[in-house]
Amino acid sequence: MAEQHAAQSRPAQPGPAQPHIPRPGPYAGRPVGSDREALAVAIQEARDGRAGGGVPIGAALVVDGEVLASGHNQRVQLASPILHGETDCLANAGRLPASVYARATMVTTLSPCDMCTGAILLYGIPRVIIGENRTFYGAEDLLRLRGVEVVVLDDAECVALMEEFIAAEPDLWNEDIGEE
Ligand SMILES: [Zn+2]
Repeated sequence: MAEQHAAQSRPAQPGPAQPHIPRPGPYAGRPVGSDREALAVAIQEARDGRAGGGVPIGAALVVDGEVLASGHNQRVQLASPILHGETDCLANAGRLPASVYARATMVTTLSPCDMCTGAILLYGIPRVIIGENRTFYGAEDLLRLRGVEVVVLDDAECVALMEEFIAAEPDLWNEDIGEE
């Protein structure tokens, strides 16, 4: 039964895997002068994601005062279990040298889950801006424990986005955080 289910849920094979093409997104190059301005980009990504029928969590990678790439949760749009706001953003940024990650700030509308926290730690991103951690408290304590600077802005717009979504799509939200 498990095999049958796996076969059914697997999309048709599109042929050989294609190299990943970076797509920094519509906000790349935008200068950001403050944490709030950086969060505004992540919020716009979250809204873009919700408008596309998806989970409203967005992220941006800021390097040297400007947006390098942004992204949003792609669970619905790309049927992806691993493209959260932060990991979609990292994928969109493409392959980067360690020296760039070392100067980067990850900006996310919601407290990062275990997976995204792992990606932030793996690439040595030293600073994380979080829109809110009221609707979901991820692994931000682990980030702090590992020396990452964590700034929580407790933004009302981020809270409202998630509250609206969780109320409207509870099953989709539970799927996104690995719960029934
Ligand atoms: Zn995540």
